[in-house]
Amino acid sequence: MVESALVALHCSECGTALSPDALHGTCPRCGGVLLARYDLEGARRTFHPDALSTRPRTLWRYAELLPVRDPRHRITLGEGGTPLLPAPRLARSLGLERLWLKDESRNPTGSFKARGLAVAVSRARELGTHAVALPSAGNAAAALSAYAARAGLPAYVFVPADAPPMTVRECLTYGARVFRVRGLITDCGRILRRLAPERGWTDLSTLREPYRAEGKKTMGFELVEQLGWRVPDVVVYPAGGGTGIVGMWKAFAELEGLGLLDGQRPRLVIVQPTGCAPLVRAFASGADRAMAWEEARTVAAGLRVPATIGDRLVLEAVRRSGGTAVAVDDPALLEGMELLARTEGLLVSPEAGATVAALRHLRESGWLSGGDEVVLFLTGNGLKHPELLPANEPVPVLDPDDPSSLERSVASEVERPSG
Ligand SMILES: *Cc1c(COP(=O)(O)O)cnc(C)c1O
Ligand SMILES: [Zn+2]
Repeated sequence: MVESALVALHCSECGTALSPDALHGTCPRCGGVLLARYDLEGARRTFHPDALSTRPRTLWRYAELLPVRDPRHRITLGEGGTPLLPAPRLARSLGLERLWLKDESRNPTGSFKARGLAVAVSRARELGTHAVALPSAGNAAAALSAYAARAGLPAYVFVPADAPPMTVRECLTYGARVFRVRGLITDCGRILRRLAPERGWTDLSTLREPYRAEGKKTMGFELVEQLGWRVPDVVVYPAGGGTGIVGMWKAFAELEGLGLLDGQRPRLVIVQPTGCAPLVRAFASGADRAMAWEEARTVAAGLRVPATIGDRLVLEAVRRSGGTAVAVDDPALLEGMELLARTEGLLVSPEAGATVAALRHLRESGWLSGGDEVVLFLTGNGLKHPELLPANEPVPVLDPDDPSSLERSVASEVERPSG
């Protein structure tokens, strides 16, 4: 049996070390982000390409470097193992030769939030939680609701009153208790931090507990494994709180520690909407922390995150990788969604559309060269956003009993120039 090599939690700000076998939120000394540490020497015995190649295609294939000790506590809906698809038509339209799409929309509940919550809910249950809760822009709430149902735990989720309607319906269907908050995800978080301690709920706010980042880190493992144990030149990621960046950066470091990567790292590009771009602004000004964004507004709900506790870690990873930070406006990210659908047949969320918009920008500015090998992280499924998809007015309605109208309609459709 493959065992977790988890040995400790370390504070990313002050270095305090804690036992990992009790529930922890942030650092008890300074409030910093706690990160999991593993015995890489020990893990090395079983974590190698040959052994991995025979394991099931879910994120639990990386069990040595995940925190759950008892396999009976691994709560799974089949998360991870998403395809890395070549995108030749999109690549050509953007002037690139080697472009890949990491299609995270195939995860349970339609977003990569499933990775973090599969691991965090599993570990919380293993450590004896009675109820789980989090603030969310929508997708994390849906994922928590599903995994809590699967784990037999009550879930309490706090979302902005204007969260994507489908995500709220998902939560309700999974049986979670949903609270809609007049405000943003940060306001949801403030309410939860007031309620959780007195109610005995385990707060699974991202980066305010150590294990959602561990789940998201598996995107980094998978990417490297799918490319044959190497990294691409550039990774483009739509950043809200930036947990995926913190996780993937950690994944690359761990693979290096295991001797599976020789210090190569992809340049990490974070994308945010111009209506809420605190990390992009901080990157541009050279700051190592991000100031909260006022009046955050964007259709990409998952990127409407005005402040994140992980700001320093995200900015450090992007800078040390030689990457950059790009802001794109809402029309551009919606156009990105459409371009992906039309060139590659993928219907993705607006956050994922933002990566395409960023790619166009980086290519035009010359930051990317045509020969760079690039991976876009398509973090969510467009089916969750019917409100953003074309409505059906321009579609002709045919009357089977009126042959002349039929002729006219079809003729006008065929004459339309094809896009
Ligand atoms: C949450 C979310 C993001 C942002 O993820 P972070 O790791 O918190 O930055 C991006 N895309 C989608 C679809 C999301 O749900
Ligand atoms: Zn600390």
